[in-house]
Amino acid sequence: MAIPFLDLQAQYRGIKAEIAEAIQQVLDTSTYALGPSVEHFENAFAAYCHSTFAMGVNSGTSAITLLLRAHGIGPGDEVITAPNSFFASAEAISLAGATPTFCDVLESTANMDPSKIEAAITKKTKAILPVHLYGQPADMDAINAIAKKHNLLVFEDSAQAQGALYKDKRTGSLADGAAFSFYPGKNLGAYGEAGAVVTNSEDAANKVKMFRDHGSHVKYHHDLIGANERMDGIQGAVLGVKLKYLDKWNDARRNLAARYHERLKNSSKVTLIETLADCSSNYHLMIVRTKDREKLQAHLKEKGIATGIHYPIPIHLQPAYKDLGYKKGAFPVVEMLCDEVLSLPMFAELSQEQVDEVCDAIEGL
Ligand SMILES: *Cc1c(COP(=O)(O)O)cnc(C)c1O
Repeated sequence: MAIPFLDLQAQYRGIKAEIAEAIQQVLDTSTYALGPSVEHFENAFAAYCHSTFAMGVNSGTSAITLLLRAHGIGPGDEVITAPNSFFASAEAISLAGATPTFCDVLESTANMDPSKIEAAITKKTKAILPVHLYGQPADMDAINAIAKKHNLLVFEDSAQAQGALYKDKRTGSLADGAAFSFYPGKNLGAYGEAGAVVTNSEDAANKVKMFRDHGSHVKYHHDLIGANERMDGIQGAVLGVKLKYLDKWNDARRNLAARYHERLKNSSKVTLIETLADCSSNYHLMIVRTKDREKLQAHLKEKGIATGIHYPIPIHLQPAYKDLGYKKGAFPVVEMLCDEVLSLPMFAELSQEQVDEVCDAIEGL
């Protein structure tokens, strides 16, 4: 039997009736933009993240941009992020009017290398945007210490890390604010596009609420130029149902990841990415590294096993950012990882036997 990379249908089958009821409530009250279902989810998600405020928005990309704008970051400012992330980490900085700059990552964790941050700081740097890539927390204590020394803000790109833990604290509560994505394929996924900003700052929370709703806090009174970046009522309802299951789903992923690690830790075919000590990844993605990715991917495909690549081209080498002037070789670890990473099937409903089948196929290369 073929093994899919991700199976959203399997998850949906388990919660079908509850979802139908939650959506029906939105239909019955016709509260389609923000409204009670979104407010309910916002309160639950803020508490889940060990934080004070959560604001539902229309995507993770908007969440990052709004977080930056709410802290006055814009034209003339620089924000440092990791170039092996999804493109939106940098794009959202550009959409705020600021300029993304980059620093290299650690080979062991594939996350921002704290020892490389200071070299990227200039007079224009206002903030650091570490990415909890693949769902495993970045080294926040080290990053926050550097930020404090240089008087910079720190924001978490937690788009992939719903429910991940850094020393018993949840992502979303580890810095000056965090952005989450609820794109359908994320561990907590909407049935459409959605995201959230999470913060302890009441001032930032109020600004995000204004910016997401045309710069207005009283209808038809506009204090700022904002945009329409509100969360849909239907997405709030879906996310409100799914949040209750997130820990269970994340634990299932952790068990599957443990099996992958057990089976592959001594493999001569692939190497694994490590999670920092005292941290718990949500295993949004299950990554292995290989020197001959094309061959391994083709071999797995032949066995009916679907894989992905997250991400094949580093952001600093994307055509969209050619004006920033980065050359190949600027971030050697990132560039090496982008050539070597392969994402294996990973979702809560995957079975232990399927994981074994994937590992057997890898070892049989
Ligand atoms: C998914 C993702 C985003 C963007 O979120 P959208 O909801 O798709 O806009 C940003 N950063 C990272 C690391 C992501 O994985």
